[in-house]
Amino acid sequence: MRVKSNWDLKPLYDVIAKIQGSANPDEWIIRGNHHDGWVNGAEDPISGQVALLEEARAMGELLKSGWKPKRTIIYCAWDGEEPGLLGSTEWAETHADELSQHAVAYINSDSNGRGYLDLIGSHTLEKFMNDVARDIQDPETKLSAWKRDQLRDIANAPSPERKQEIRQRADLRLAALGSGSDYTPFLQHVGIASLNIGYGGEDRGGIYHSIYDDFYWYTHFGDTDFVYGRALAQTGGSAVMRLADADLLPFEFGNFADTVQMYVRELKQMSQKMQDEIRERNRELDEGLFAATADPKEKSVPPKKEDVPPHLNFAPLENAADALSASAGEYTKAFARTREIGGATLASISLADVNKLLMESERKLLTREGLPNRPWYRHQLYAPGFYTGYAAKTVPAVREAIEQKQWKQAEQGIGVVARVLQDEAALISSAAQKLSAAH
Ligand SMILES: [Zn+2]
Repeated sequence: MRVKSNWDLKPLYDVIAKIQGSANPDEWIIRGNHHDGWVNGAEDPISGQVALLEEARAMGELLKSGWKPKRTIIYCAWDGEEPGLLGSTEWAETHADELSQHAVAYINSDSNGRGYLDLIGSHTLEKFMNDVARDIQDPETKLSAWKRDQLRDIANAPSPERKQEIRQRADLRLAALGSGSDYTPFLQHVGIASLNIGYGGEDRGGIYHSIYDDFYWYTHFGDTDFVYGRALAQTGGSAVMRLADADLLPFEFGNFADTVQMYVRELKQMSQKMQDEIRERNRELDEGLFAATADPKEKSVPPKKEDVPPHLNFAPLENAADALSASAGEYTKAFARTREIGGATLASISLADVNKLLMESERKLLTREGLPNRPWYRHQLYAPGFYTGYAAKTVPAVREAIEQKQWKQAEQGIGVVARVLQDEAALISSAAQKLSAAH
């Protein structure tokens, strides 16, 4: 095969629009979707981009009627997403210092269709995103987008225990962000709490990045009457306005700590399972099991004997996760008291110090050095897998080291992530104390 590529240099155009905040102009809510398409791009990215434009239009109408957001809102249409998240990455890198001082959250969308609301993003915003989803009506069922998601999750749950958890847990779990869209530089390089929103699951697809992703396909098989376009604009617009106008930023750490505890349990189980499997296979080799069961008429090769992986010391990670749970508990308590006291008192006290810490809570999850072998990715909880393309790896420094059987790196990763989480726990405790002192 002969491949011919066009290596011309072309300019890219990001379109950035800003609504200045009236009370806290230095706190930024950022909302983005790319505008370049691989070919025709009706679904990817225009179905997401039109929802974003509709939100921006609605905010314009509100501004004309006298509404002013407390915080600054920045709407972004990214160019060059398809060849490698180029427009958003250049913008985020150029403004990295300002962003780490001022950014509250980044809300991304990319494409949209009929079906279910995706719940993906930073777990410090899990409760916030659940609350938004509870207030959006699903156009087909007239249930809330949240209820429809919950019922779908129960239907798909692999075990009775999991079904039970979905029924009983107050909030639906957010999936972790990997990559494949413009949230990557904001979340994984600059450490801005991020969400990715979009509807889908009933539109079949098959057109992704092809010439068939066009207006005909979209209006016959995608969101045929654009009702999910409206739902997405309502979802993104509600999220942006709530973040822009909240007295106290809607970060929450109970769900976050619960998620970290779950990741730590997964890592321990994965490590144990690898030991068990290798031990069993070595035993089967010693027993001559593979030679005995191989059909001599079919060519086969038995697996090689492997060293049983060493026991890793997960204690630093477990202690850090417990510290996180404890500080999350403190914050939840301080927050509940704030609610008891009520809105009038809350508005009269200064929450600036608390908000400042809440904004920093995602930044704290970065390290300066970044992940092993890829220093640009600095978030210690979420990354695209080194070998998985878009798919997320959580606690990547530890998880990938175990998967690659790099035990020394796994131990080092445990130390690094544990320190990051201890620092995060200290920040959350400090936010809880400041919130209590504000009463
Ligand atoms: Zn896209």
